[in-house]
Amino acid sequence: MPTNEKRTIVVTGGSRGIGKSICTAFAAPDTVVYFNYASSHSAAAETEQLVRDAGGQAVGICADIASETAVTDFFLKIVSETGRVDVLVNNAGITRDGLLVRTKTSDWDAVMDVNLKGMFLCTRAVSKTMIKQHSGRIINISSVVGVTGNAGQSSYAASKSGMIGFTKSIARELASRNITVNAVAPGYIVTDMTEALSEKVRESMLQQIPLGRLGQPEDITAAVLFLASRQAGYITGQVFHVSGGMYM
Ligand code: NAP
Repeated sequence: MPTNEKRTIVVTGGSRGIGKSICTAFAAPDTVVYFNYASSHSAAAETEQLVRDAGGQAVGICADIASETAVTDFFLKIVSETGRVDVLVNNAGITRDGLLVRTKTSDWDAVMDVNLKGMFLCTRAVSKTMIKQHSGRIINISSVVGVTGNAGQSSYAASKSGMIGFTKSIARELASRNITVNAVAPGYIVTDMTEALSEKVRESMLQQIPLGRLGQPEDITAAVLFLASRQAGYITGQVFHVSGGMYM
C-alpha cells in the first residue's frame, strides 16, 4: 500500500453547493481532496479547477453513494493511491419533499438510500483505514430539521435525525482509536437545494432566522474546517448548529 505524505480529504457530493465550498476550502499544497458526485460532470470539473486554483489537488469521481459497489470502488481507488484518509465529510444529500399522505414509497427509499445508507457505506469503508492509522475525522452534514422536524419534509427530516444517532453511536465506537465523529446541522443555506423554493417560502424562512439572513455554503464550511482541525481534537459525538440561530 503506498503511503502519501499528503493529507487526504474525502468529501461526498463535492460537485455543487456546500460540498463544493468544502472541497475548495481544504485546498492546500500538502493536501489532496477526493470527492464524488451523482451526475454533474461539468460542475465536478469546476470544483477540481477551483481546488487547483487555490493551490491544491482534487480528484472528482462520479460514484453513487447509495451503491455499495460504487462506494467500495471509490475508497479502494483512494486508498490504493494515497494509503490513507484523514478526513471524511459525509455531505451528499437529496430531498423528496411532500406531505406524508402524498409521499411515494420510492421517494422515501431514495432519500434513505442516499442520506442514510450512503453515509453508512462511506463511513464503514473509511473506518477500517482510519482504525489502522489510529487517527481520523468524520464529519456528517445533517440539518436543523433533523432536530426540529418540518412539515412536508418527513423523509428528509427522518434521514437527518438518523444521521445524528449514527454520529453519536460511531463516535462512541471509534473514540478509542483517536477518531472523532461529529455532525454539522445547517439551517437554510443558499444552494441549488433551496434555490427551487418560492419567494413566499423564502420570506417565511427568513422570519424563523434570528440573524435575519439565509446562510452561505461558506458558513457551513467554516464549521467543517474547525472540526477537521487539530484544535478540535477533543470534540466528538457533537452536533454543531450553524443556522443563524434557528435552533437554540
Ligand atoms: P446540493 O446543492 O443539492 O448538492 C448536492 C450534492 O450531492 C451534489 O454534489 C450532488 O451531486 C451530490 N449527490 C446527490 N446524490 C448523490 C449520490 N447518490 N451520490 C453521490 N453524490 C450525490 O445540496 P446542498 O444544499 O449543498 O446540501 C449538501 C448537504 O447539506 C446535504 O446533505 C443537505 O441535506 C445538507 N443541508 C443543506 C441545507 C441547505 O439549506 N442547502 C440545509 C441543511 C442541510 P450532483 O451534482 O452530481 O447531483
